[in-house]
Amino acid sequence: MPVDRNSGMWNPQEETLTKEEKRLRDEKNLVRIFRHAYSNSPFYHERYREAGLTAEDIKTLEDIKKIPFLRKPELQEAQRKNPPFGNNLTVPINKLSEIFVSPGPIFEGVVAEEVEAMLNARCKAFYSCGARPGDIVINTFMYHMVPAGLNIHMGFRRLGCTVVPTGVGQTAYQAIIMRDLGVTVFTGTPSFLAMIGEEAKKGGIDPRGDLKLELGIFSAEPLPDGLRKSLRDTFGILARQLFGTADLGTVARECPQENGMHIEESLIMEIIDPNTMEQVAPGEEGEITCTMPHKLANPIIRFRTGDATILREEKCSCGRTSPKLKKILGRVDQLVKVKGMFVHPVNIKSVVQKHPELGNYEAIVDRPQLSDVLTIRIEFEGTGKSLPKNLEEAKEELEKEFKEVLRIKAAVELVQKGSIKETKERIVDLRKME
Ligand SMILES: [Zn+2]
Repeated sequence: MPVDRNSGMWNPQEETLTKEEKRLRDEKNLVRIFRHAYSNSPFYHERYREAGLTAEDIKTLEDIKKIPFLRKPELQEAQRKNPPFGNNLTVPINKLSEIFVSPGPIFEGVVAEEVEAMLNARCKAFYSCGARPGDIVINTFMYHMVPAGLNIHMGFRRLGCTVVPTGVGQTAYQAIIMRDLGVTVFTGTPSFLAMIGEEAKKGGIDPRGDLKLELGIFSAEPLPDGLRKSLRDTFGILARQLFGTADLGTVARECPQENGMHIEESLIMEIIDPNTMEQVAPGEEGEITCTMPHKLANPIIRFRTGDATILREEKCSCGRTSPKLKKILGRVDQLVKVKGMFVHPVNIKSVVQKHPELGNYEAIVDRPQLSDVLTIRIEFEGTGKSLPKNLEEAKEELEKEFKEVLRIKAAVELVQKGSIKETKERIVDLRKME
């Protein structure tokens, strides 16, 4: 009988918390981790004392706004000044269970008590994506230095899976291993599985007929619709994604709905406007900022990830109650505010890529008088493949599509192929040049 990969949850109690239950949990966790960091991490003690805070100043979830933000360069700088941990270590170094080295470079220590929380988050995520006890999982994430490979490995073990720790590389051999062992789940980057598919075919392995693969769980790279579809078709699999970072572990995971990633329940997430540093309303773009209540050895509090997203707070038919990250829009420093709304180059690209008759494009925001004007210039060939042949009608249709995605009006200018040298994946902001 085929495995049911679409129903149930790993931890129904946590995954169906009401908003109020979650708020109470976050509040308790925030107070606890703040006091822990203030009392035991000289790095935080200094920062917070300088900000005029005492250990008793954080009493409610609202009080989180009093806590200074933390950015990765500050952690790197602290580690350079006071190696190896930048004074942000709450236990003696030989009490750590692992020390990871993440790109940066940055040292990150873990104590055994944190591992349970990490495994719980991993199991919820893998189960939500469709992995089940009894799966044979090939783990192609890197095992050395960084946390990814090892932590993912341990998560699948806890879920009750058999893990084949292949790590990165050896593309053609990965396909042979998958075939010979009857691997059912692939985990790694989507581009790596696509490469394995190519190599398999070259080596006479049919990715559908010769492999038993049923599911791909992807992370560390975006999974655009086109790639998801091509992996599905090539391997005959479900293709689902997680979002995580080396600093934070699992942040969010897809569910069978595949239309956004539910936020990991244990973390306290804020989406902030990088200009005003205020929390944005649900549905608006902003920067993912996380507080990790379970990270005890190297606390992470109000950490700005630099990743831009949109948060969605709607009921999901999978039954999980945590809000979803609609998608990861890229780096927050590419966000541009136009008429009070954030616009990300990814949004513009998503519309342009839908139509084969469109070529290079550029987006320009200007303020000729009092208000902002966003102009998107695009190369256009009136072939009638997916847009009207008529210039005026095509322009109208595109303006409608941009309005839907960007939620503000953009003026579209259609130009001949060859008029724009190359696609600018950034929005050119002429307002700043005054
Ligand atoms: Zn869901």
